[in-house]
Amino acid sequence: MVRVRFAPSPTGYLHIGNARTALFNYLFARRNNGSFILRIEDTDRERSAKEYETALMEDLKWFGIDWDEGPDVGGDFDPYRQMDRLDIYRELSEKLLKEGKAYKCYCTKEEIDERNRQAGRNESSGYDNHCRDLTAEDAAKFENEGRKPALRFRFPQKTVKVNDLIRGEVTFESGHIPDFVIMKPDGMPVFHFAVVVDDYLMKITHVVRGEDHLSNTPKHIALFEALGAPVPQFAHMSMTLGPDKTRLSKRHGATSVRAYKDEGYLPEAFFNYISLLGWGAENSQDIFSKEELIQVFSIERCQKASAVFDPDKLLWMNGYYMRKTTPERILELSKPFLEKSGVIKDGLSAEQVEYLEKAVALEQEKIKLLKEVPYHIGFFVKNPDYEEKAVNKYLTEAGKKVLAELLPALEGCKEWTIAGLEGAVRSFCEEKGYKPGDVFHPVRVAVSGKTKGPGLFEMLELLGSEKVTERIKRFTEGAS
Ligand code: GLU
Repeated sequence: MVRVRFAPSPTGYLHIGNARTALFNYLFARRNNGSFILRIEDTDRERSAKEYETALMEDLKWFGIDWDEGPDVGGDFDPYRQMDRLDIYRELSEKLLKEGKAYKCYCTKEEIDERNRQAGRNESSGYDNHCRDLTAEDAAKFENEGRKPALRFRFPQKTVKVNDLIRGEVTFESGHIPDFVIMKPDGMPVFHFAVVVDDYLMKITHVVRGEDHLSNTPKHIALFEALGAPVPQFAHMSMTLGPDKTRLSKRHGATSVRAYKDEGYLPEAFFNYISLLGWGAENSQDIFSKEELIQVFSIERCQKASAVFDPDKLLWMNGYYMRKTTPERILELSKPFLEKSGVIKDGLSAEQVEYLEKAVALEQEKIKLLKEVPYHIGFFVKNPDYEEKAVNKYLTEAGKKVLAELLPALEGCKEWTIAGLEGAVRSFCEEKGYKPGDVFHPVRVAVSGKTKGPGLFEMLELLGSEKVTERIKRFTEGAS
């Protein structure tokens, strides 16, 4: 049975690259009827924050990722947290110590660096295995000095081969990896050890993670072997780059999932787009529902080359999903944006909801992001924010004159429907010898504040006679 995990450190908001790691693990688990586990790697006490942990879970859930295990918290699963598992790391590190697979090391970083310098070695060569075979006397001497030992793993110096599901066979020659710390003097586990212990005890079958962890894999494999644990399969995904092919970072604009959510992206668009970062179907199809992705996803089709994050394509895809969804849902999801911009206050009546849904339906084709909804439908509710350019161009003296002449025709319009309004306005044009454009543009700007929007008569019908005549009147005073 496939068991995979997403193991973020809560040191910041969920990043696009990590969201992709979570998604690929999730898809792989779902595809294989396996389990997807969320494990919070929070042992870095200085950098971890509860706030990020909460945000991380919210953001995963937002774009449709849920996990299958963990302590029950009111019917929901809490993730596993490494800070809750410290006793386990201590116990297993003691075991390695007893078996001679780990040893106590009393060196400080300064001492190691100094010895490297003295021996003419590069500082980055790291630990010199100084305490590997410390005599009991030497150890006692250090203890008497009050030094607290770290536990180091006695790394078996042998060539390690990793059969990576994405990268193929990767060989790490022996001799490059010094013995490394698994438990710090303060009793906290080091990342490599906690990861391996957890993957072992959580019976993880496939470790699917970023390529930046590939170089850690020989250490991890050696630890699995030392613990007598089965070694999982590994798949290291390519890195995600920005459009300029440098590693995706703040310089490329928003990089956190939260920022995209706050901009008004739809979760299904985000889910779909992220799935294409380093993975592709055989037929280069790019629109996939979640269910389709679960059907077609495979690790083997993950590419070795870096993935390029293209915000324009994500925006395009969001527009696609925006057109596909219902006005009801767009209205519901855009409520926070409408409230923030003062278009609505909380607690809409059923009638208001119906009215606003119709407004959304008229504008749906043009909406790319939820945050744009107030711009598109705001004038259906409150007085338009008049765009200066539109006013200067169409609400000229001539425009106002047209509006003044049109007003009685609108007030007398017997049927306030698309057809009724179109009939009334077109007959008015004919009667007065106006071209449609002479009339349509000033009316549009007077009622909506801008030059672009839905079909004129659809818009007038929905606004209703009261709002339309009142807004037109504002521009007719003083017009002859
Ligand atoms: N906590 C690690 C990270 O955030 C993940 C380790 C792993 O996936 O093995 O990069």
